[in-house]
Amino acid sequence: MTIFEAYNNIKKELKNAGIDDDVFEAKQIIKYITGYNNSQILSNYSNELTEFQKNNLTAIMKQRLIHYPLQYILGRWDFYGRSYKVGPGVLIPRQDTETVIDVCLEVLKDAEKPKILDICAGTGCIGLTLAAETENSSVTLLEKYEEAARYLRENIKNNAPENAKLILADVFDGAAKDEKYDLIVSNPPYIKAEDIKNLQAEVKYEPETALAGGKDGLDFYRFIAKEYKECLRSGGALVFEIGFDQGEAVKAIMEAEGFNDIKIVKDYSENDRVVFGTVN
Ligand code: GLN
Repeated sequence: MTIFEAYNNIKKELKNAGIDDDVFEAKQIIKYITGYNNSQILSNYSNELTEFQKNNLTAIMKQRLIHYPLQYILGRWDFYGRSYKVGPGVLIPRQDTETVIDVCLEVLKDAEKPKILDICAGTGCIGLTLAAETENSSVTLLEKYEEAARYLRENIKNNAPENAKLILADVFDGAAKDEKYDLIVSNPPYIKAEDIKNLQAEVKYEPETALAGGKDGLDFYRFIAKEYKECLRSGGALVFEIGFDQGEAVKAIMEAEGFNDIKIVKDYSENDRVVFGTVN
């Protein structure tokens, strides 16, 4: 089987399994099994796959066709132009979350040595992007689960070794509250209890602890807005990623806690995705 034949087979099998992004995914899989970049694939498309590559492809397709996430199979995923280690036990970075970064960078644009806290850090993609994109910042990444922290430690090492540190602890125990921050950012679990069973097949392979936000999905917002506002320095900002239908509810929570200038921001797909506000 040539690379070109393999590519066509993969595309067809993915499509038949109801996987929409068949062209993109087939390319990713070919790149992964051959180790080639885009132009190498184009100049070598008529090469025969080796025995090893064929076996690898079979194993990958077995997993992907039962909707095991492509990102877990590949073991890495890009976010905001950098590569992160991912796998079972940690939430996969989403493109929607890039809007959180845009808002944070705008909020931090005049800060001189910003201190940043990323709550429920997961892979660390939010905090580590901010660590890399801002001058003289120091970033604390708070994560409860060792399963996720295994990836996070690697990502710290690869993406921001100097100015980022992990605290392995539970936000509900009030961890990392002994400092004043310029920015607190969080993409907490925010799926409503009743919606968990209807998630896309791929998402069901992700840790429920990174998804389930309590009965109405708002548990983390209530707690963080109330308990962590005292850790913001005067003028500091709290930035939340939210579910597309949670904008007004999270805004109301922040209003009740006395935040100012609260705004709801849409992602690239025109869904409400970020709520943020500042303290006096
Ligand atoms: N955006 C994720 C999803 O819809 C949820 C992530 C989260 O709960 N923070 O699958």
